[in-house]
Amino acid sequence: KGRSSHEPEFLQAVQEVLESLEPVVSQMPEIQDYSILERMVEPERVILFRVPWVDDAGKIHVNRGFRVQFNSAIGPYKGGIRFHSSVNLSILKFLGFEQVFKNSLTTLPLGGGKGGSDFHPHGKSEGEIMRFCQSFMTELFRHIGPDTDVPAGDIGVGGREVGYMFGQYKRMANHFTGVLTGKGIDFGGSLIRPEATGYGCVYFAENMLTQQGKGFKGKSCAISGSGNVAQYTAQKLLELGATPVTFSDSSGFIYDPSGIDEEKLAFVMDLKNVKRGRISEYVNKYPKATFTEGKRPWGVPVDCAFPSATQNEVSGEEAQELVKNGCMLVAEGANMPCTPEAIEVFQKNKVLYGPGKAANAGGVATSGLEMTQNSMRLSWSREEVDGKLKGIMKSIHDNAFEAAKEFGDEGNYVKGANIAGFLKVARAMILQGVV
Ligand code: NDP
Repeated sequence: KGRSSHEPEFLQAVQEVLESLEPVVSQMPEIQDYSILERMVEPERVILFRVPWVDDAGKIHVNRGFRVQFNSAIGPYKGGIRFHSSVNLSILKFLGFEQVFKNSLTTLPLGGGKGGSDFHPHGKSEGEIMRFCQSFMTELFRHIGPDTDVPAGDIGVGGREVGYMFGQYKRMANHFTGVLTGKGIDFGGSLIRPEATGYGCVYFAENMLTQQGKGFKGKSCAISGSGNVAQYTAQKLLELGATPVTFSDSSGFIYDPSGIDEEKLAFVMDLKNVKRGRISEYVNKYPKATFTEGKRPWGVPVDCAFPSATQNEVSGEEAQELVKNGCMLVAEGANMPCTPEAIEVFQKNKVLYGPGKAANAGGVATSGLEMTQNSMRLSWSREEVDGKLKGIMKSIHDNAFEAAKEFGDEGNYVKGANIAGFLKVARAMILQGVV
């Protein structure tokens, strides 16, 4: 704790995991004998570098670039790259730490890592984004590789940025390999990868509902964010007969009580992905909806909530508001969006709660499938990838459910996901010796 006292998000993530692991540690003396926890909370390597770039007016800017290579016990480091002004080492260490357990849960051979920069893409021109991505990769390229570390997208990094980074990697390394995932479909990308985190989150939630003999039909759903994860969460919910009623971004949220249908969702996708506009513009097109500035969408009456924007975006009070309004399921599309206080409220009130490291693992799982296709030099169909994603989300659900049951806390997916993810990595670390 002393060593990381200046890293609150990292400490928050570690604390949650360590609490969940108490019953495992007390039953397995080898965890202590081999100092597994002490080794697991320390990244294997952290790379910090300068990213200089020139804006359209010729002015030079300098940002910080990071890659946290957290744990490679079960496979090459794997995890996204985030571009956002809030990026710092605490946030990337929390994300990298979570990624280790998440990747283990996917059942694929993937280690954990995370990276990014405090570069803020809002308001930057196409040329500025490209030059930044090229400068970022000019340093990162020497630390990554298809069998070493395979980054992907995250907040502020979508298909466009992955494309620019891939182009620069290929130019510098003189290799065409699957070194990044989330690539364009014409140069090694996988079908369903853009959809995978949102779809996977809804599949996970569907598994939680099925476990209780329930389904999505007729359920109203609050979604936060309006980026990649939020959009495809909405799409899959619509397909399953549920009704999304909110979206948000960093300026506020929109509420459309009549429901966000396919046509309205297509408008949001064009607004955010092509025009790169703000979610408030939704109400100009659909005036019956409301926009609330500076607030998050947790005060509206819904059956289910899908936090899909960023960390710590559901407070204890907001969780209470959701419960009071009848919310019975929360599935995290984002990483650590619920504060510890919010999680406590959900668990006390028997709300079905799917933590991010299980519920949003569909994105990295499908990245793993992209790596496999790249290595085999072939492309699977949409149906094939979606079928595998569905199967993986069911395994993640069932493994987390069973682990929680085995350790005496049935229905606690936080505990179940942490334990199931941990055991595989711990076993690998023990067998690989003190490294
Ligand atoms: P995008 O950049 O596509 O979208 C992010 C959305 O969240 C935007 O609407 C953005 O609004 C909003 N947002 C970001 N930061 C904040 C903030 N500080 N306060 C309020 N709103 C904010 O990112 P993704 O959809 O890819 O990622 C969303 C979440 O899902 C993240 O937590 C990410 O780690 C997680 N995730 C993503 C995966 C993926 O495959 N992409 C995989 C697993 C998890 P604005 O435009 O105003 O910034």
